[in-house]
Amino acid sequence: MFRVPPPVNEPALAYRPDSPERRLLAAEAQRLAERPSEVALRIDGREVQTRQQGSVVCPHRHDQVLARHALASEADVAAAIDAARRARGEWAALDFHARAAIFLRVAELAAGPWRQRLNASTALNQSKTPHQAEIDAACELVDFFRFNVHFAERLASEQPLCERGIWNRSELRPLDGFVYAVTPFNFTSIAANLPTAPALLGNTVIWKPSPHSVLSSHIVSELLVEAGMPPGVINVVYGDAQAITRQVLAREDFAGLHFTGSTAVLRGLFREVANNLDRYRTYPRIVGESGGKDFIVAHPSADLEALATAIVRGAFEFQGQKCSAASRLYAPRSLWPALEERVQALIAELRLGDPLEPGVFLGAVIGRHAYDRITEYQALARTSADCRVIAGGNADDREGFFVEPTWVLTTDPKHRLMQEEIFGPLLTTYVYDDAHFEQTLELVDQTSPYALTGAIFARDRAAIERASRGLRFAAGNFYINDKPTGAVVGQQPFGGGRASGTNDKAGAAFNLMRWASPRSIKENLAPPTDYRYPFLG
Ligand code: NAD
Repeated sequence: MFRVPPPVNEPALAYRPDSPERRLLAAEAQRLAERPSEVALRIDGREVQTRQQGSVVCPHRHDQVLARHALASEADVAAAIDAARRARGEWAALDFHARAAIFLRVAELAAGPWRQRLNASTALNQSKTPHQAEIDAACELVDFFRFNVHFAERLASEQPLCERGIWNRSELRPLDGFVYAVTPFNFTSIAANLPTAPALLGNTVIWKPSPHSVLSSHIVSELLVEAGMPPGVINVVYGDAQAITRQVLAREDFAGLHFTGSTAVLRGLFREVANNLDRYRTYPRIVGESGGKDFIVAHPSADLEALATAIVRGAFEFQGQKCSAASRLYAPRSLWPALEERVQALIAELRLGDPLEPGVFLGAVIGRHAYDRITEYQALARTSADCRVIAGGNADDREGFFVEPTWVLTTDPKHRLMQEEIFGPLLTTYVYDDAHFEQTLELVDQTSPYALTGAIFARDRAAIERASRGLRFAAGNFYINDKPTGAVVGQQPFGGGRASGTNDKAGAAFNLMRWASPRSIKENLAPPTDYRYPFLG
């Protein structure tokens, strides 16, 4: 009968040079950088250290070790699963408002006293500028906790019809087993949301964070403890992703997977779950959000300045390491000369470096593997006869993993650079004849296996409507005259179809529904007392 407070999106602070928030962020970053954090596994509320250790290094400074962390053995993983099993009864039986209060407290701590710890760890660990850290580790994280509580309350209040004399009720139970959350490196907010969204509905969880974001994930797990998350509800294990996953997915009471990451890994997880199907007590829920090949389509009527701004922000912010980052652009021939000149001028202004330094727009990419992959795509652009690098194109890994914002022009609209997810600051452009707008929409729809985000830029309303119809299945998040990144919880529920995932829309009621197993209850207030129906005479 209690009502949770109406949610509001957390406003982003500006981090102007010399602002108080910028000073606090710098001080916190300095504190975290002073010595490596010691990160333990968290099993049943206990911190578990291991002899074998992994380490996390700052992407923009090879000599800066940020954390040393435990690596889970088979016995540790088994202990984590047992802890989740034991904690389930009490956690699931807790009143919804009691669980909700923990979530609302996480939101308030993250918005207030923990804000700069979350931001500083994200800036150092994932190489984010103050703005990118703020919209992720502060605002989006806070929004997930405030809005999930609101959506879960709404789901629970959804009740069936009742005939006279009957009281029908619907109850949201957790899944009949534990949930496994596997999180990506690129968003601290996603790392926080994947284990906690199922927990809000009464599930207990094994959380395996990305090895590339151990420090920021660790701070999230400490925040959960501080807010009062009981022992055993969320158990955190770091270590060999494949081995941990094999062990977890082989358990009969595995009931759900909450995954965000690359498409190849998601497909592997689907296969492994399918192979184990006969072992499971229930049919496991799989919620998986994965890669993108996100597009911007410009119509001849597009506003040049708005388009150029969206290209630079959409393709190069956070080094293009957003699943929603613009990575293919379709530009009309009539607009091309002006657009090329304008965007080249903007790219020339973008500074690469330590993201906490004033004026820096791009930090480093996350690690060696990412650097090698992105620079291979740069080399492909240089060596393909039908491509020309028209801005950037270089990289430097001496101090950190720095890749220049790179812009490529291609005459082949089906080039690999137009189809494959690169996950770095590389944008490829195809110039189409103005008369072929309709065919270009078809091309956009057919070129890549992904369908995550996309944008149309036009002033002509008919063109906007044609694009909106023609690209209906090409993106789960579609933008009109805006960049394809930056979805806000509660405003643009996020997720894509086709190879991009199950489209269960993080931060929305759709997603939460997947973590509940409803029970329908019929109570007869005046049960019949004679078995004979009237038709019997
Ligand atoms: P990744 O697939 O390399 O790793 C994601 C997680 O899976 C990590 O925790 C990793 O340790 C684990 N993992 C890796 N191999 C595994 C295996 N064989 N078995 C089990 N687990 C395994 O992805 P990443 O580099 O961390 O993140 C980038 C990817 O995530 C991109 O493809 C991006 O598009 C996608 N992403 C999608 C969304 C979305 O909402 N659609 C959001 C963010 C990121």
